[in-house]
Amino acid sequence: MKNQKPYSNILAKELKEFFLQGKKKFYLREIVEASHVSFSDAEDFFIPLLEKNKIEGSLEVRCPTCGASLGIYSRFPEIPEELTCEFCEKDFPKEIECLEVVLEVKGKFFRDRKRTSEPPR
Ligand SMILES: [Zn+2]
Repeated sequence: MKNQKPYSNILAKELKEFFLQGKKKFYLREIVEASHVSFSDAEDFFIPLLEKNKIEGSLEVRCPTCGASLGIYSRFPEIPEELTCEFCEKDFPKEIECLEVVLEVKGKFFRDRKRTSEPPR
């Protein structure tokens, strides 16, 4: 077992908070902002969970001009190279800047967690 990084407790707590509020689906950006960690720390935390299918990730395309949501894709290659906003009719290329990572907690996430260590009190 490798040691838990300090941010992982913060993110796990925030994740549980979201979950308890009935918020099973949220943007990566939201949890990063709520827990005040960096994006790269959040990625380190979520990538293993995504790999274990504890969390499902998808990508939401947003219009860079008006911010409208233009659809959710499960994989980056599925997104068309050229996109058109159906609301403001602006064409734009597929770019990281127009994507939001959407995370969805799978139902069993908090039930089958192993109690590996108790936090000191
Ligand atoms: Zn638009």
